[in-house]
Amino acid sequence: MQVTHDAPLAPLTTFRLGGPARRLITARTDDEVVAAVREADRTGSPLLVIGGGSNLVIGDKGFDGTALHIATRGFSLDGTRLELAAGEVWSDAVARTVEAGLAGVECLAGIPGSAGATPIQNVGAYGQEVASTLTEVVAYDRRAEETVTLTGAECAFSYRHSRFKAEPDRYVVLRVRFELEDAGGMSAPIRYAETARALGVGPGDRVPVAAARETVLALRAGKGMVLDPDDHDTWSAGSFFTNPILDDTAYAAFLDRVRDRLGPDAAPPAYPAGEGRTKTSAAWLIDKAGFTKGYGAGPARISTKHTLALTNRGEATTEDLLALAREVVEGVRDAFGVTLVNEPVTVGVSL
Ligand SMILES: Cc1cc2nc3c(=O)[nH]c(=O)nc-3n(C[C@H](O)[C@H](O)[C@H](O)COP(=O)(O)OP(=O)(O)OC[C@H]3O[C@@H](n4cnc5c(N)ncnc54)[C@H](O)[C@@H]3O)c2cc1C
Repeated sequence: MQVTHDAPLAPLTTFRLGGPARRLITARTDDEVVAAVREADRTGSPLLVIGGGSNLVIGDKGFDGTALHIATRGFSLDGTRLELAAGEVWSDAVARTVEAGLAGVECLAGIPGSAGATPIQNVGAYGQEVASTLTEVVAYDRRAEETVTLTGAECAFSYRHSRFKAEPDRYVVLRVRFELEDAGGMSAPIRYAETARALGVGPGDRVPVAAARETVLALRAGKGMVLDPDDHDTWSAGSFFTNPILDDTAYAAFLDRVRDRLGPDAAPPAYPAGEGRTKTSAAWLIDKAGFTKGYGAGPARISTKHTLALTNRGEATTEDLLALAREVVEGVRDAFGVTLVNEPVTVGVSL
C-alpha cells in the first residue's frame, strides 16, 4: 500500500482539476482496499474513492481526508462469465471481451475509467448500459463492516443511477461480475439509431462484435469522447449533465416554452422513460439556449466537438469550470424552465 501526504489529485482526474488530498493511498489488492477503508473509518477520516477520475469534479481546495486510489487488477473470463477487479481499466476489459467474440458490453467501448465505477452511475452509451449484463457486485459495506455480494437487482439500477449513488458513503466496490452472450461472434442487437446508421444496418440487427466496438469508438472519437491527452476536448468528464426526465405535466409546460421560443413546429428530442415520463436531450437544450460547441472565452469552455462536455482548456481551475456550468444551468432554466443536473460527482463543491 502506497501512502503520500498533501498529494495533488488533479493528475488523477480527466479534468486535471482539484487541489491536494491530506493523504492519498494507492491500494493494489482487495485486502489493501478494505484495510485502507477500515482504517479511515476507524479514525474518522473522510474517504474519497478514486478509480480513473473520469467522473469527478474536485474543488480547488482539495480533499481534507483520505483519498483512496483503487489500483487493483484482475480479469477473468470463464465461458461467458466475466469477473473484473474494480481497478481494471474498463475500456481495456471491453476490448478483451470483444476479442473473445462475446457480446453485451461492446457498445460501452471507450468509456474511460475503472470497472469498479461502472455500477456507480450504471454507465451507458450507444444503446447499452451495464445494468443489462451485470450480475453481481462484490463490495465492502462500510455500515456492516463486511464484504457483501449484491445481485444486479439489489444494485437498483436506473438511468445514470444506482443504489451506490443513492447511498454514496456506504459501499466500496471490489469486483464486478457480468454474464455476456456468445452469439457466434456477433454483437448484441444494435439498439441505437446512430450506431445502426453508421453500420448500415437496421435497429435490432446484429453485426460482428468487433465491428460494433470499432464503430462506437469512431463515433465517440468524433465527439471527443475517447480520452486523448493532446486533445483538450477530452479534458472533461464526458457528459456534464444528465438528460432531464420530465413527468407529463412538466413535459407539457416545457413544450409550451420550447414553442414560444423556437416557433410552433419546434420538436425537442423525446424518448419514453416509463409510465407518464419523457426523457429529453440535455445537449439539445444547451445548444438551443445559445451555448453552442466551443462556447466560452475563459480557460473552461464547452467542447468544440460536443455541446454536453464542459472542458478544461489547460489552465482552468475548478471554480472556472463551475462558473461555466452555472452559466449553462441558468441559461437553460431561463430559456426552457428545465433545471439541468450535473452527472459527475462533485467533491467539496457544488453547482
Ligand atoms: C471523455 C469521457 C467520456 C465519457 N463517456 C461516458 C459515457 O459514454 N457513458 C457514461 O456513463 N459515462 C461516461 N463518462 C463518465 C465516466 O467515464 C464514467 O462514469 C466512469 O464509470 C467513471 O469511472 P472512474 O473509474 O473514472 O470513476 P471516478 O471518476 O474515479 O469516480 C466516480 C465516482 O465513483 C466512485 N467510485 C469509483 N470507483 C469506486 C469503487 N471501486 N467503489 C465505490 N465507488 C467508486 C467515486 O468515489 C466517485 O463518486 C465519460 C467520461 C469522460 C472523461
